[in-house]
Amino acid sequence: MEIVPGIHVIEGISAHCYLVDGPELTLIDTGMPRKTQKILRYITGTLQRTPTDLKTILLTHCDIDHIGNARELRSITGASIAAHPQDADIIAGKKTRQTPQRVMSILFKLLGLFLQVKSFPVDEIINNGDTIAGLTVLHLPGHTPGSIALYDPKRKVLFIGDTLGCKDGIVQSPPKSVTWDMEKVYQSIEKLQTLDFTVMLSGHGEPLTSDASVKVRQFITKIHENRTTR
Ligand SMILES: [Zn+2]
Repeated sequence: MEIVPGIHVIEGISAHCYLVDGPELTLIDTGMPRKTQKILRYITGTLQRTPTDLKTILLTHCDIDHIGNARELRSITGASIAAHPQDADIIAGKKTRQTPQRVMSILFKLLGLFLQVKSFPVDEIINNGDTIAGLTVLHLPGHTPGSIALYDPKRKVLFIGDTLGCKDGIVQSPPKSVTWDMEKVYQSIEKLQTLDFTVMLSGHGEPLTSDASVKVRQFITKIHENRTTR
């Protein structure tokens, strides 16, 4: 489904994955494993493009529901996979995903084993301020150490990953149980105060399709208020 001109969400995949349609195709996140064919069908059917038009796969962070089809898609399309160095190490199996409760870290690991997600090296390391496939990289540590958002300045769209979500038009923080460091999430989203975006697309929940930066600023103000009255 096309959300705004040139930006599509492939329905029926969790977490959401987004395709940016241009001279080349760019995929942001890849969903839970076993959805590779669904993604390819969207490219060849809905978009009438060839799989090799997919040149870049950007991973907003290391969680299994975002990286699940990346490896397989790379081998079929030849696309290059990019992630932030801190999560690239987790994706490559050099580090373990951390959560505040050890039990959640163990669950992440078991889920990976159960779904047979193998570790893999990414092809490209991206850091705060880099531009890749026309998108600006914002490093927003918190949900995971290497969580990033990707900003499309032309369309004023922000792909936020799991740093923020949206439900019933209301901006939300990520669930604590699966977030590495909530304090860092709050620090990171301060960086969004001055960013101008109309649309915010997150890993879960609904797209925020109007006045997104205003709504995010209101959310940040609400957090500040909660802290001073605590
Ligand atoms: Zn996540």
